[in-house]
Amino acid sequence: MRALCWEGADALAVRQVPDPELRNAHDMIVRVRRSATCGADLPLVEGRLPLLAAGDVLGHEFLGEVAEVGPEVRGHRVGDRVVVSAAVAGGSCWYCRQGLHSCCDNSGTAPAVTESAWGQPTGGCYGHPRAAGGFAGSHAEYVRVPYADVGAFTVPDPVSDDRAVFASDAAPAGWMGAELGEVRPGDVVAVWGAGAVGQLTAQAARLLGADRVIVIDRHPERLRMAERHTGAETLNFELTDVPAELRERSGGRGPDVCVEAAGGAADGAGPPSLAARFTGRRGPAEDPLAVREAVHACRKGGTVFVSGTFTGFVDTFPLGAVMNKGLTLRSARQHGQRWIPMLLDRMARDELRTEHLATHRLPLEQAPAGYALFRDRTDGCVRAVFTPDG
Ligand SMILES: [Zn+2]
Repeated sequence: MRALCWEGADALAVRQVPDPELRNAHDMIVRVRRSATCGADLPLVEGRLPLLAAGDVLGHEFLGEVAEVGPEVRGHRVGDRVVVSAAVAGGSCWYCRQGLHSCCDNSGTAPAVTESAWGQPTGGCYGHPRAAGGFAGSHAEYVRVPYADVGAFTVPDPVSDDRAVFASDAAPAGWMGAELGEVRPGDVVAVWGAGAVGQLTAQAARLLGADRVIVIDRHPERLRMAERHTGAETLNFELTDVPAELRERSGGRGPDVCVEAAGGAADGAGPPSLAARFTGRRGPAEDPLAVREAVHACRKGGTVFVSGTFTGFVDTFPLGAVMNKGLTLRSARQHGQRWIPMLLDRMARDELRTEHLATHRLPLEQAPAGYALFRDRTDGCVRAVFTPDG
């Protein structure tokens, strides 16, 4: 089959690779119909995480049709249209039973790496370094789906492929930021980043009853899209003193909930944060620019939720502000299995609309160009979505 392979730093190629095969009784094989780019891929593509091997297949946000099922798969049949959580989870360990599927004890196939880096092993993810499970990615004609009854969900008929593909990763990540950030009716919520996760956080915050939602970015077309599709207010951080403006829009206190949805993709072209003013540093990989600003802007006693992807160590982190302002700081990789059925229901009822985020639909052969569009945000690209089945 054909697949998008990582060939080295900033080198991607669509190549012929072996077809995936069933490896155990709970596996199934999915023929991929949609597979989307994600900001979490960029450090991998750039080779900033020295954990990929040449030939690894990228991609983790996907939807497709069941092509083959293992003998123990109960909930799926050949031909079913399914969306699959980007997080691989076994479903039976203590963490999975708490709904913390991305923390699964059993789905990481190289636990020594995450255990040594983070203290405990975490769960797997498609298309990620061997450290996160080594499961081949979805930018391919076919993908092996382990724990099929846990991670794959049948898509209701009325929901289009272009809408449902976001239930794999961006929509649960967005929902998680709002729900675990403890958005309550009447809250003012600020979201850093107007990419797919940021926009879906804004939609989730509104569905959870937030009074005002303010999305912060510097790309005018993304901000316009967020206004049009999420009903959020927006701020361009290149033109605005963000913490001052957020105080102004929240009764002088600051937002109740601040969600960071930029991660390693956050860039430092805006006004320097307070910490950057002290240190003169801004913008290298894993500099938590937006996290810092969220911590500074958040009202005392509020919650900061970090949705953006970080993998290593960050410095210039304002722990003093977290402590002295009484903030709650939370974060997670998305626990898709916990929210996908609810999100698909909302998609079927038209409460949650996501298809506008698929700004560029491309055949798999053009995936390397799709990543360049996505990385540079060329032509208003929010997500490039590949269609391996033509
Ligand atoms: Zn588990």
